[in-house]
Amino acid sequence: MRALPDSRRALPHSGIREVVNEALRRPGCIRLEVGEPNFATPEHIVQAAYEAARQGATKYTATAGLLSLREAICAKLRAVNGITANVEQINVSAGGVNGIAAALTALLERGDEALIPDPAWPNYAMQAEIAGATVVRYPLQPQRGFQPDPGDIEPLITPRTKALVINSPCNPTGAVFSRETVAALLDLAQRHDLYLVADECYDQLVYEGAHISPAALCLDERIISCFTFSKTYAMTGWRVGYVVAAAPLADVITRILEANVSCAAMPAQRAAEAALLGPQQCVEEMAAAYDSRRRRVCAYLSAHGLLGYVPQGAFYVMVDVSRSGMKARDFAFGLLRQHGVAVAPGTAFGSSDSAQRHVRVSLASAQSDLDEGLARLHRYVMEHSATPAGSA
Ligand code: PLP
Repeated sequence: MRALPDSRRALPHSGIREVVNEALRRPGCIRLEVGEPNFATPEHIVQAAYEAARQGATKYTATAGLLSLREAICAKLRAVNGITANVEQINVSAGGVNGIAAALTALLERGDEALIPDPAWPNYAMQAEIAGATVVRYPLQPQRGFQPDPGDIEPLITPRTKALVINSPCNPTGAVFSRETVAALLDLAQRHDLYLVADECYDQLVYEGAHISPAALCLDERIISCFTFSKTYAMTGWRVGYVVAAAPLADVITRILEANVSCAAMPAQRAAEAALLGPQQCVEEMAAAYDSRRRRVCAYLSAHGLLGYVPQGAFYVMVDVSRSGMKARDFAFGLLRQHGVAVAPGTAFGSSDSAQRHVRVSLASAQSDLDEGLARLHRYVMEHSATPAGSA
């Protein structure tokens, strides 16, 4: 049998999935490793999909998505993100992951380099590599509040650099980039003629500061903005996201989606439309719950000397487990096997020193799970710690 390409065989599993798979083999363990809202999809959204399916919304749609959904997306982009876009610029995708992958596939080919943050959601690097590009990591430093610094990025740019991927609100750090940071990144992309791929999947989960969309600052054909319904509306399983790009690029993205998925599921698109057109109180309530968990968890972690960084958005917190003397991956698997708590190792997101010191905990898990899971995590740190406990 012919060998698979080396580059495909070398594709690593996402370091989060590794923990998920182990957690699934341990029924009853506390799950703090994935960004899975513990809320049900709001009832009016489920109901709209049910009624739509009953009325025959069970077919293929246009690859770019239902026109009515794309119109609703344009209105949302204007009202929430300050982005002016028309329906030709929108591609509805099967979740944010599919939209981001289609965008990177549209931009990248063998020989290109893609600038990807360290730490970052693991899928960007996997997708860029599948597209044949070389991944170049740029650092997000804890001492700078994990805000990217163009001064760190610029020396990494070569004539082959094609795309700069940014993510705010950020998974895993929870950083929300300031207006100055976003403007500086946009300026960098413009000066070096790079595509700026902005992953804005957590745009409506911000607790401190405000989310700034690069496309709201300036109309530039280099900007690609990626969104999802998964996080804002607790719709992870419905698989609906969208990508906003200049019309010629949007058309290429449509053709890539055509090759890969044909279209997002029609009942799910109708659910997404109901999400945008219906009451938004559910979004506020869920965001308020994540914020309340964030405050309680940060207070607990800070009292025990475990707080890595206070997140301003998204729904994750980085927990500093360095006092255990263990590396992040060993810590995560040890905690799961010995104390039944699943967390994501920092090494799933990058390879810096900071990645080795931290594990990521999801605030999308129930408060009771967070309380018990973090108490066990603290105990595990103490069992392995050579130094005395934090101040509490
Ligand atoms: N971008 C980031 C940073 C994420 O964390 C996720 C999911 O966890 C996604 C995009 C894609 O989410 P989905 O494919 O569920 O829409």
